Amino acid sequence: MSETIVVKIGTSSLTHPERGTLALSTIATLVEVLTDLRQRENRVILVSSGAVGVGCARLGLTNRPRTIAQRQAVAAVGQGRLMRVYDDWFTQLQQPIAQVLLTRGDLEDRERYLNAYNTFQELLDLGAIPIVNENDTVATDELKFGDNDSLSALVASLVEASWLFLLTDVDRLYSADPRLVPDAQPIILVKDLDRLAEVETETKGSQWGTGGMKTKIAAARIATMAGVRTVITQGRNPGNIEKILQGVPLGTQFAPHPQPINARKRWIAHGLIPTGTLYLDRGAVAAICQRGKSLLAAGITQVSGEFKSSDAVRLCDAQEKEIARGIVNYSGAELQQIKGQQSGLFVPTCLLCQLS
Ligand code: GLU
Repeated sequence: MSETIVVKIGTSSLTHPERGTLALSTIATLVEVLTDLRQRENRVILVSSGAVGVGCARLGLTNRPRTIAQRQAVAAVGQGRLMRVYDDWFTQLQQPIAQVLLTRGDLEDRERYLNAYNTFQELLDLGAIPIVNENDTVATDELKFGDNDSLSALVASLVEASWLFLLTDVDRLYSADPRLVPDAQPIILVKDLDRLAEVETETKGSQWGTGGMKTKIAAARIATMAGVRTVITQGRNPGNIEKILQGVPLGTQFAPHPQPINARKRWIAHGLIPTGTLYLDRGAVAAICQRGKSLLAAGITQVSGEFKSSDAVRLCDAQEKEIARGIVNYSGAELQQIKGQQSGLFVPTCLLCQLS
């Protein structure tokens, strides 16, 4: 059966740990695996980091540049080099590829979001494998994805993928750091990400989350809410992707949410960048989370941030846990005036999107 598969590979898997040069055998295997998947009529997208790392190696820099301008310049050197390597290898197998560089702003604006969706569909229809990275050379801090784990999850959500593979430098998640805790249990399947958060808190500081596991779990949350089955697995063995697709229990799998949210709500929840926060009382949280209700002014206890009407805001409970996002039809200043009022005043957060 034809599926849409997004694979994300990080710099640590693409480069040699000591020398910083490209891990050629890993790249070659990845190229073969993705081409095989494509030739079996799957739609395949690769999200590849490495622009800064490859740029440093190309320029003979031994340390990662410290200033933003330097990193942006180095990324411009590395991105071209990286694409050349991919194109050489994929061309050996007659597989066309395409470079897609995105900034956060491309997904924030609804029109640009839909435009990105259409471009991906055209590329996939043409049989190309889009290779996506953040447009590091022009992205400014406010408009950055920040890490390619989030970027890959947003892309998987955008194209409604069936699978997202996060290739990394560990084989899977464990209940604790296996190097420190001998009976650490491998986590094979995560059905409820909220329960995983408990494990993570308990083992804080134990390094079980080697190599940015936090961003991977955040990515898994975005992707699974969109109905995408997400897998964390070892990047040095891209062959694992095929095995996992055949049902071999390698890595850690995150089951897709049983009721994935629709496309417009996904854009509200993850495409938009919230500019303020509304804190809600218990009644309002229960009404939204358990009964799918809208928000009344009476339920708002605190308003934080400066925002205009039709901006996106976070909705949090008293413990600051984010429970939903929405677009408000009042400005922050107006909400300050009406918060807590028992008038039954409706605060139309046109389309609320619950986050758990
Ligand atoms: N976009 C960055 C690069 O290509 C990588 C970001 C990340 O590692 O998540 O170097």
